[in-house]
Amino acid sequence: MTQPVESTVRYRGRFAPSPTGPLHLGSLLAAVGSYLEARSHGGEWLLRIEDLDPPREMAGAADGILRTLEAFGFEWDGPVEYQSRRLDRYRTALEKLKRAGQAYGCACTRKEIADSSVRGIDGPVYPGTCRTGLPAGREARAWRLRVTPGAYIHFDDAIQGPQQQDLEQQLGDFVLLRADGFFAYQLAVVVDDAEQGISHIVRGADLLDSTPRQIYLQSCLAYPQPKYAHLPVLVNTAGEKLSKQTRAPALITETATSELWQVLDMLGQMPPKGLLKASIADLWDWALPNWQLQRVPTAPVVVPTAQG
Ligand code: GLU
Repeated sequence: MTQPVESTVRYRGRFAPSPTGPLHLGSLLAAVGSYLEARSHGGEWLLRIEDLDPPREMAGAADGILRTLEAFGFEWDGPVEYQSRRLDRYRTALEKLKRAGQAYGCACTRKEIADSSVRGIDGPVYPGTCRTGLPAGREARAWRLRVTPGAYIHFDDAIQGPQQQDLEQQLGDFVLLRADGFFAYQLAVVVDDAEQGISHIVRGADLLDSTPRQIYLQSCLAYPQPKYAHLPVLVNTAGEKLSKQTRAPALITETATSELWQVLDMLGQMPPKGLLKASIADLWDWALPNWQLQRVPTAPVVVPTAQG
């Protein structure tokens, strides 16, 4: 697999929203953290729309996300990538894994897995039913990655500190191509981050549990391993992560300055109060030279009810 990373680029970050709804304060926080960390390293910042899961997507959300990011003053490098236009890349990666004997077809239904499994960190741990071949008369519905027994992943997160996960015990063989025919996020994100030459991944800590799977896949596909930093998630007063499901309100571009100020504050950057009435450009002019990753808190940040 070719790696289009130019040797002159030391830092290339990205923001990769899923167009399941409008951006909210939690997604703004991920965008701001990844943007400031990239720019403060003199790095590039790419934008990728992760429109890989049509059942969860909302018509018009991708365009809305781009307009909102523009209104907030984000400037991305290169063209916006869309995962829906990169399916051939994911297919190629899956074929490579199949040829290497690392991916196998699985006939199990959700119910069969739930009935015969222990719970792991992301639902039932796959019991390995189809690992040595499909049961007689059954057809593959999904494709899974064969996790080597004892596969133990550890990495150092720039915000959350040392992390470890026993893939076999906590997850089992995980899905690469879903039974509904869509590629799994884990495969697509790994292929895209590698092919786009992403060196640093800064995103929400809700994805911390996914990172070991991604590191494992990177090793299976002989991709380089990027550096990771997981930002605190925003939760409402009930302790639920801000998301479409918990009805987090959409960002309002008319009040972009105060929303950006609030996010900088939640990221521990201590923006001066006087900037609350400044222009968005002035706030960015302050934020960039003052950005300090070591000030970012690790624990979830509670957003008062009015916003959450
Ligand atoms: N598309 C994912 C999301 O919106 C983020 C993926 C990533 O940053 O790796 O939650």
